[in-house]
Amino acid sequence: MEKPPRLTVDEYFDLIALIFACRGTCDRLRTATVIRDTDNILIAGGYNGALSGLSHCDDIGHLMVDNHCIRTNHGEENALLNCLDLSRIKNGVATIIGNPCYPCARKVLSKNIKRLRYIGTYHNPFGGDHVKELCDQKGVIMEFIDVSEVLKTLEKAINFLQGPGGAFRNLPKIMIKFEEGK
Ligand SMILES: [Zn+2]
Ligand SMILES: [Zn+2]
Repeated sequence: MEKPPRLTVDEYFDLIALIFACRGTCDRLRTATVIRDTDNILIAGGYNGALSGLSHCDDIGHLMVDNHCIRTNHGEENALLNCLDLSRIKNGVATIIGNPCYPCARKVLSKNIKRLRYIGTYHNPFGGDHVKELCDQKGVIMEFIDVSEVLKTLEKAINFLQGPGGAFRNLPKIMIKFEEGK
């Protein structure tokens, strides 16, 4: 049996960001951020959610101000708050679900990442129109990845895990099925 291909580093972090987003608690966008250092080691990760111990948007509704929900820390903010060594972010790569709002981009770029990779778009990021300009000024490469690409990566990961030595190797063949009209 031919070995299914292993994920690239970018694909690996795209899926980690996706897994983090599975814990998001504001359904305006279930976002997440993961940051890796120059050795491709995961050093920070977070998803959007209310403060620890407080009720979440999913439970009590959004807290809206000027058409933005302010209840949650955004994924970027929580990633930075969870990072045990902020100095390692320098020249690293941030992978984010959705295009970031300006305040989050400002914070992440303050720690001097070299690449900002974002998966899919969000229609209403606060100050989002100015993020590209900020990246240009800081010399940060901004990359967009379509969600359909990440879905293909997920399929690749499942195939890999069904291959020799993979966690799903003894399960019946798993397929991602697409339903029309959804
Ligand atoms: Zn919310
Ligand atoms: Zn934000």
